Amino acid sequence: MFKPKSRRAEEFIDHQEVLDTLEYAAQHRRNAALIDTVLEKARQRKGLSHREASVLLECDLEDKNAEIYALAKRIKQDFYGNRIVMFAPLYLSNYCINACAYCPYHRQNKHIPRKKLTQEEIVKEVIALQDMGHKRLAIESGEHPVYSPLEYILESIQTIYSVKHHNGAIRRVNVNIAATTAEDYAKLKEAGIGTYILFQETYHKESYEKLHPSGPKHDYAWHTEAMDRAMDGGIDDVGLGVLFGLERYRYEFAALLMHAEHLEAAQGVGPHTISMPRIRAADGIDPSQFANGINDDIFAKIIACIRIAVPYTGMIVSTRESRKCRERVLELGVSQISGGSRTTVGGYCAPEAQDGETAQFEVIDTRALDEVVAWLIERGHIPSFCTACYREGRTGDRFMSLCKSGQLQNCCHPNALMTLQEYLLDYAAPHTRAVGENLIAAEIPQIPNEKVRLLVGDHLRAIQGGSRDFRL
Ligand code: SF4
Ligand code: SF4
Repeated sequence: MFKPKSRRAEEFIDHQEVLDTLEYAAQHRRNAALIDTVLEKARQRKGLSHREASVLLECDLEDKNAEIYALAKRIKQDFYGNRIVMFAPLYLSNYCINACAYCPYHRQNKHIPRKKLTQEEIVKEVIALQDMGHKRLAIESGEHPVYSPLEYILESIQTIYSVKHHNGAIRRVNVNIAATTAEDYAKLKEAGIGTYILFQETYHKESYEKLHPSGPKHDYAWHTEAMDRAMDGGIDDVGLGVLFGLERYRYEFAALLMHAEHLEAAQGVGPHTISMPRIRAADGIDPSQFANGINDDIFAKIIACIRIAVPYTGMIVSTRESRKCRERVLELGVSQISGGSRTTVGGYCAPEAQDGETAQFEVIDTRALDEVVAWLIERGHIPSFCTACYREGRTGDRFMSLCKSGQLQNCCHPNALMTLQEYLLDYAAPHTRAVGENLIAAEIPQIPNEKVRLLVGDHLRAIQGGSRDFRL
């Protein structure tokens, strides 16, 4: 039985409840009256249950689908405005004792070079990332008790925060490492991490066990209950995600929302972010081997429905997606993207020819960060390098209650403008700088509160004068 408050994976991701939800959604996919009721509820901006959202995902009526997309766009605009938060992944090590069928780092893969960055190499990678303009990283590592124990991750976080190159600084380190104990999560919290991210890969237990035939990750409950242990360890912000393509997308969609409902019920705070990866080619990995791949239209529909179902949760799309696809989903709900990413260990410093040898997945959007920034600006978005919330202690339920009160928006917009100004002065190419300056000039009058507007004006002038790191 579905028990959202339970701490047991098989109760908060109750298989039968997922199946019943899919059947319910299929039965009602042309039920205009029910879809209207669900949409009416969604317009209150209070979110939807997994069942209600699944009805929207299944909806087969053209006019109602148009309403779904329009509502997703409106909610995106109301909650996130035209801001897009930027980040980059940093791969620390590709040694791994797991056997994930979709990842080239799996332990049976004997023909990729294995590499773990030393602290000196991490410094070089971080300098390269700072010189691009990044302020927010997501560190990634395979699971290995000898090559990448928690002590190595903790030391690496310390190293990353310590590097200050010219005006550069990494101000927020999010962490994407294997499920671990509450004690270890407490140590990560102590090290000052931002979000703890762990992709579920698939919520379907039987598929999960087949796709993870050995290693600690084989244990479905250990993996699925990780976010509860992370929160027990004091981590406020957790990031969910599934790897679309492994299982039927409808199943993953309903289960993902059940996981969000569980965190809200059991921990009092829903997920901070939801990542949206789709399976991609890599060494020895052919995405066509996985029968559940989704096309761009379904991908866009899933994103729109998640935006409506959990309006307060940020949504992330990486460089796994093409420019065209990213363009589309930015409008529908995505609030955070990576740019200029390298998915290899040591990839930011490695010569071009070596790139790809150890890549975890194929990067589709290969543009440099500055090109991505200019592209966003030209499309009317504000690229934001803001990391203010976590540094101001606005995490977990504090973050969520500010979000729900609408007050957070008064911070995001000014912070986006100030961090973009820093980027333009320190890292942008002349064209990016020109379009960015125009955007900032046009956006300042949009700050509704006069006091804040004047303060931001002062801060922008101070940034131009050489000061850095202002935040609201
Ligand atoms: Fe290891 Fe993660 Fe790749 Fe699995 S997905 S093989 S745990 S690096
Ligand atoms: Fe994110 Fe907070 Fe900055 Fe807004 S103010 S962009 S929520 S860190």
